[in-house]
Amino acid sequence: MTKPVIAIDGPAASGKGTLARSLATKLEFAFMDTGALYRATAFELLAAGLSAKDKSDAMDAAKILVKRIKNAENPQDVLENKTLREDKIGKEASKIAAYPVVREALNKLQRDFAADPGTLYKGAVLDGRDIGTVICPDADLKLFITAKTEIRAERRLKELQSRGIAATYEAVLEDMRERDARDAERETAPMKPADDAVIIDSSDLDAGEMLEKVILLVKQRLTN
Ligand code: C5P
Repeated sequence: MTKPVIAIDGPAASGKGTLARSLATKLEFAFMDTGALYRATAFELLAAGLSAKDKSDAMDAAKILVKRIKNAENPQDVLENKTLREDKIGKEASKIAAYPVVREALNKLQRDFAADPGTLYKGAVLDGRDIGTVICPDADLKLFITAKTEIRAERRLKELQSRGIAATYEAVLEDMRERDARDAERETAPMKPADDAVIIDSSDLDAGEMLEKVILLVKQRLTN
């Protein structure tokens, strides 16, 4: 019998990552941060002295990453590099994410994870931009988490400041608008809610309130 899958999509700093992690812990589901795959691909590329300009370089970097993850004793170790969270990497990730060849190279890994999260887990939670639309169109529950751009920029600014990284609100807001537009307007797998997704605006909710709301949805949708 296949295990349940929860797909969580949405823009940067919408709270989807925090929600996905806490939901996975609460439900004893395995969790995959699919944005980290794009970030790690961008990191590979920059580390090799290359850039997002050439799509075949980006595809090669994605393939190398997939091999490294498959060969790793603990695949999560490959994705737990702190540098991956930097805004420079997020920006580069969104550029390479627009190339269909890069997405194809990363899609199978995500689908395999959703289909078989491992014997220790009761299901899978994946967060990203195209989980409900492309990676897991048959997910048991699809969520699209969003929040006002200004609120997301404030959250990101606080996060950067807490890590000792200097940034201004204006620069963070502009970067966020640019990245949202690139992710939503690309031709392949654009960021958008699936037709059957539940859309949640997290602007006025804290992490605990979000989790509570989603647990109710899980009870309604996954226990029948
Ligand atoms: O979620 P995160 O900010 O880490 O994602 C970094 C970038 O990776 C996004 O801006 C987006 O361009 C890309 N991405 C994607 N599809 C996913 C997850 C992330 O295109 N499923």
